[in-house]
Amino acid sequence: MKFSHSILVPVSIILTQLSAWSTVDAAQAHSTPFLVQLQQKYAHQETFLQAVQEMYLSLEPLFNHPDEVLRDKYIKAFQMLTEPERTISFRVPWEDDNGVLHINRGYRVEFSSALGPYKGGLRFHPSVDEGILKFLGFEQIFKNALLQKSGLQLGGGKGGSDFDPKNKSDAEVKRFCQSFMTELHRHISPNIDVPAGDINVGGREIGYLFGQYKRLTNMHGDFGVLTGKSLTIGGSHIRKEATGYGLVYIAKLAIEDKLKQRDAFKGKRCAVSGSGNVSQYACEKLLDFGAKVVSVSDSNGVLHFENGMSKDDWEVIVKAKQRDRLRLSEIEGLVSGKYIAGKSPWSCEQMTNYDFAFPCATQNEIDEESIQKMIGSGLRGVFEGANLPTTEKAQEILRRHTNIIYIPGKAANAGGVGCSGLEMSQNSQKLGWNPNVVDEKLKDLMAEIYQQLIDTAGPDGSLEVGANQAGFLKVVDAMDELGWL
Ligand code: NAP
Repeated sequence: MKFSHSILVPVSIILTQLSAWSTVDAAQAHSTPFLVQLQQKYAHQETFLQAVQEMYLSLEPLFNHPDEVLRDKYIKAFQMLTEPERTISFRVPWEDDNGVLHINRGYRVEFSSALGPYKGGLRFHPSVDEGILKFLGFEQIFKNALLQKSGLQLGGGKGGSDFDPKNKSDAEVKRFCQSFMTELHRHISPNIDVPAGDINVGGREIGYLFGQYKRLTNMHGDFGVLTGKSLTIGGSHIRKEATGYGLVYIAKLAIEDKLKQRDAFKGKRCAVSGSGNVSQYACEKLLDFGAKVVSVSDSNGVLHFENGMSKDDWEVIVKAKQRDRLRLSEIEGLVSGKYIAGKSPWSCEQMTNYDFAFPCATQNEIDEESIQKMIGSGLRGVFEGANLPTTEKAQEILRRHTNIIYIPGKAANAGGVGCSGLEMSQNSQKLGWNPNVVDEKLKDLMAEIYQQLIDTAGPDGSLEVGANQAGFLKVVDAMDELGWL
């Protein structure tokens, strides 16, 4: 197939430039013709460009492959994968409790169907725009590809809205979800596109969305159209816990493997950010494994547990967040931790001593200054529960510290979508597996992902390169066999 794309330069020019490099650093990659053109076209989508650039750096050895046919294939595939197959953008009108009309923007970015139905969460947050969802959808393609070896065939997508659920009543959130699904339902089905949750989209929102889908379609057996459902309406055991648990499972494997420690977390100080879905269940599993969890946070501040969070503290946090929808500042005094306003765990001066970091809040939460401080705090591993929580500059620093284990979000937080895949399997069989079965399968998924990271890691053992290359190669193989390259 002859490749043609308005933003691309001929492959031969890229190859000429690529072959001149033995290794590429971030500055060089920025001057690559293809990336330059992408940057010009999507200058307003900074986080998307950041995600592409991060991937590019790991894939550079493939773009420089001595076999010309393979090289050409990898470059064409990467270029194609930086443009979503389809983006749906729509109006979401809803009325607040006073009868005032509000209009938000809704999106679904259907990025790649090479491996299966588009799969990825929905995010409701004022910062959501097409660029944020393109970054998340782009990441999702390669994350989902890491599950293919375990038998899960999932494409990549992401969606959401700039709706801010903070300070909204339950009735307002319900009306918004119903309006959002009134448009989205035309574009999704268990075999086409299967959304799930993400920031500010949890069990409550998935319930309202699924309820509206059922009313509009009369397809009451279509359980697999959304994942992250509660058990009552067709969900899977452990889905709620899966991203956080999976994160800790893969971190445990890596620590035991790389640091040659048998009891990875016993007595280890672990800093966690966020206090939402991923953070809560990462904390729970870390506590189960005997770790000292020294922090959680929200966008207003940090709860710092100098002596480690207790299981009672954890229960107070979960109740505050899941049931009462409180800020962390409102539970100071009910937990043993001290609240520090206006800081994140990574920027907070009081946190000076921890072994492992679990960023579980949002993108770019760890910057250059934070990572230097974290390294000074004795850091031995970063395991990303959030998507792209580490800035480009902070990643550069981490790459130079090869003694620090670094597992990027694409691999580290894949347990959530992995368990969503298990939920889809149960839904299609009209069966529900028991919690132990799902938990064992989740452990197996994470072990299979870790093995792929090891098998594909670069010469210096970089798990980041392993994650990015392993996912990419799976998608390329599929695109090739489908005749799309
Ligand atoms: P969540 O339940 O909504 O929790 C998000 C947490 O992060 C909250 O504590 C929130 O604080 C904090 N946060 C959000 N934006 C922030 C910001 N700009 N600055 C500081 N803190 C911020 O969401 P989640 O599902 O746990 O998702 C967290 C991260 O994990 C995201 O990057 C998401 O893409 C990723 N992830 C989630 C899943 C999943 O299954 N849910 C799977 C894979 C990856 P506030 O309440 O103050 O906003």
